[in-house]
Amino acid sequence: MEDRTPVVLRGGTVLAVDDAHSVLPGTDVLVVDDRIAAVGPALEVPAGTREIDARDGIVMPGMVDTHRHMWQTAMRGYGADWTLTQYFVWYYLESGKHFRPQDVRAGNLLAAAEALDAGVTTVVDWSHGLQTVDHAEAAVDALRAVPGRNILAYGNIQQAPWEWSASSDFQAFARRQIDARDDMLGFQMAFDVTGDPSFPERAAYEVARELGVPVTTHAGVWGATNDDGIRLAHEAGLLDPSHIFVHAATLSADSYHRIAATGGSVSVSTESEQSAGQGYPPTWVLRAHGIPVSLSMDTSVWWSGDLFSAMRTTLGADRSHEHMDAHAKGETITCCTLRADQVVDWATRGGARALGRTDLGSVAVGQKADLVLIKNEHSPVSFPVLNPHGHVAFQAQRGDVHTVLVDGRVVKSEHRLVGVDLPGIRREVEATVEYLRSTMGEQAWTAGMNPEVPETKILDNPYTYTDYASGATHGQG
Ligand SMILES: [Zn+2]
Repeated sequence: MEDRTPVVLRGGTVLAVDDAHSVLPGTDVLVVDDRIAAVGPALEVPAGTREIDARDGIVMPGMVDTHRHMWQTAMRGYGADWTLTQYFVWYYLESGKHFRPQDVRAGNLLAAAEALDAGVTTVVDWSHGLQTVDHAEAAVDALRAVPGRNILAYGNIQQAPWEWSASSDFQAFARRQIDARDDMLGFQMAFDVTGDPSFPERAAYEVARELGVPVTTHAGVWGATNDDGIRLAHEAGLLDPSHIFVHAATLSADSYHRIAATGGSVSVSTESEQSAGQGYPPTWVLRAHGIPVSLSMDTSVWWSGDLFSAMRTTLGADRSHEHMDAHAKGETITCCTLRADQVVDWATRGGARALGRTDLGSVAVGQKADLVLIKNEHSPVSFPVLNPHGHVAFQAQRGDVHTVLVDGRVVKSEHRLVGVDLPGIRREVEATVEYLRSTMGEQAWTAGMNPEVPETKILDNPYTYTDYASGATHGQG
């Protein structure tokens, strides 16, 4: 283990992210090795400790994103006007198959750097572009090259989960990853459950169980997955607290009961649900069922890889639902149920808990030292800080992320990434863009920003590997 200099963040307003959502003004945080060693005013620190002035700033835990398709980041902003159907056409049917291992690597490198820059210190890489184990090796290579904490959630949209998970290539790769698994890189399996009554995905769940790794699924996605997938997995006894359901938007109470009963959590990607069309962002209904929430941003093909946007849009969507629901009954909401401190909790501790990482997501002695200092002397938005949770949720942005620590190491300092070769990443991303553009041809490349929806089965089923389609998803009964 390399030597780490102790670090102290002096005099910031600390958001502890505990049950009381404590705010500690004028507080120091001392980091020794990979842990938070002390939290308090005017701390005495070991000789040689690096001092960081956090006065006028907010110190909070590193943010945790539980669902991000990092391999897609080289296509940043390309799909800004897409719907979910257009995304399926581009990635699942037409162009996703063009991605080579080095393209997955380029996307992952950029995504990992982008996350750290925004104070997102842990990311679940929902990596469903792994057409071969070489693609997976490239994904891991990138995740290991950037000093963030990541979880590779292995998936492959080009093949059925019961096929790729059964292959000896995948299983050997998975066992290698599991053996090499450490604090900085975890492993999960990522696939969707279509609701086909013969439940072929059972085999993939069983592989995950044999490997002892969690499963994450896109669940409750209008037009793709519905209650049937959750019911089938639950009836087969395959759901447990490690299961992260992504979106969980278009579902009935029956599914929420099954998720709550088995202790699973939901990763809400509000920006994604709002513009792609998976269903209304479900925080309001998850709250009603006592289901734990974490936040995610899904993909940089549309959205920004920061969780400030996620917190902001989640507050907006939840409150919008609450107001409209009341108005429909002729009533007025006089106090919003969802508060800023709660979304800060979801963006930090909520993600840590979804991953079973109780050592992450809060600022307290003994916790892993994943920390973010929000401070920007050049910004008129940096003062006054009257309501620190509200400031984080509604006022701050990635440019205000002054310092980031991961595992006790400073990875961003004075607004600049440390130990990240951005020019090198840029070259790899440019090579990927160049390759995809020339492979697709200029016309298809341009048309891809607003892809035509072909007359295929896609409106009933985006998955190329199965003919199963459900009329129920589209109310065709
Ligand atoms: Zn997704």
